[in-house]
Amino acid sequence: MYPKSLKELIEKLAELPSLGPKSAERIALYLLTKPYKLEQLVSTIKNLDKVGYCDKCNSFTEGKLCSICENPKRDRERICVVEEPHQVDILERSGIFKGVYYVLHGSIAPLEGKDLKDLKVEKLTKRIKEENIKEIILATNQEFTLHYMIKLLKNFKVKVSCLAKGIPVGSRIEYVDELTLKEAFKGRQEV
Ligand SMILES: [Zn+2]
Repeated sequence: MYPKSLKELIEKLAELPSLGPKSAERIALYLLTKPYKLEQLVSTIKNLDKVGYCDKCNSFTEGKLCSICENPKRDRERICVVEEPHQVDILERSGIFKGVYYVLHGSIAPLEGKDLKDLKVEKLTKRIKEENIKEIILATNQEFTLHYMIKLLKNFKVKVSCLAKGIPVGSRIEYVDELTLKEAFKGRQEV
């Protein structure tokens, strides 16, 4: 019963994560009655074009480098390695870490055919070779990623640490409460 364009919008919205057809319909009808909201939303989405990845750490940025890599107050001798860019934000919100980050953009899953070559590790190993890095903290609890990253980093003269036990094996840091994450980070152990 809806006109084609409205139906299409509902379908597109329903494809978004966590939005079923019912919520999609509600949002589409809401936008139809609030043209100024629609305009704001469209221009905000268009602005996402500006977002790219940091040349140094692969996390989100609108410039060449992200605000963390650019900040002279950060401890550049310690790099925390995460799987996805949004995990940088989780650790930043916890305030536990004052070093810099590195984003792998993925995790190793042999059953899905994803191995070390699917991770962005080149810039990390380059940094270990060229910069004065004292510690690499692997902030992942994903078994295979951890195993292969430890194996890779053993080739370099750098201290490698893993999060302390307390985070269930395989669970991602976004599913852990802040206190547990802080404790796991503080109690990290060299491997
Ligand atoms: Zn960066």
